[in-house]
Amino acid sequence: MSVDFKKYIASVQNFPNEGIVFRDITPILQDGKLYRAATHELAEYAKSRGAEVIVGPEARGFIVGCPVATELGLGFVPARKPGKLPRETEKASYDLEYGSNSLEMHKDAIKPGQKVVICDDLMATAGTLHATKELVERMGGEVVGAAFYIELPDLKGREKFPDTDIFSLVQME
Ligand code: 5GP
Repeated sequence: MSVDFKKYIASVQNFPNEGIVFRDITPILQDGKLYRAATHELAEYAKSRGAEVIVGPEARGFIVGCPVATELGLGFVPARKPGKLPRETEKASYDLEYGSNSLEMHKDAIKPGQKVVICDDLMATAGTLHATKELVERMGGEVVGAAFYIELPDLKGREKFPDTDIFSLVQME
C-alpha cells in the first residue's frame, strides 16, 4: 500500500525564524504505522543500493536512520555536533545562511570500501549532506545513496551531487 506522506507533514509558518516555513515530520513519527511505512521505504531503498552501514546526522538523522539500520540488520553511525563524541574524530564544516556548522564522526566508524547510505529527515541546501559525505569519504567509505523523508527541490541540493543517488519520500516547494 502506498502512503501519501505529504498529507502528514505539518508546515509551520515563521519557524524557527520569520519568513521560514518549517516542515515538521513529527506527525509521521507519532503514528506507529506511518513511521514504520516511512522507515520501510527508506530501508528498501538502502537495500537496493547495497548499503552496508547507515549514517545519520544529528539529530533528526538519528530518528530517521536508526530504524532503517535495525530493519536491515545493519550498523548505524552517528554524525554528531562538535564535542559530543568521546573518542578521536574527523570533523567537517558546512555553511549555513548565517555562519557555519560542523559535524564529527569517530575516526574508526567507517571501514575502507564500506558502502554507506546517509539518512536524514530533510534535504534543503544539502550542506548537511555535503559534510556527512565528506566525513564518510575521508575514512575511505563509499556513499552509495542518500535518503530523506522530504526534499526541497527549489534549493537545488540534488544538483550539487550529480554523482550521488538521492531518494526522497516527498518533494515540497
Ligand atoms: P541543509 O543542510 O540541506 O540545508 O538542511 C537540512 C538539515 O536541516 C537537516 O538535517 C534537517 O534536519 C534540517 N532542516 C532544515 N530545514 C528543515 C525543515 O523545514 N524541517 C525539518 N524537519 N528539518 C529541517
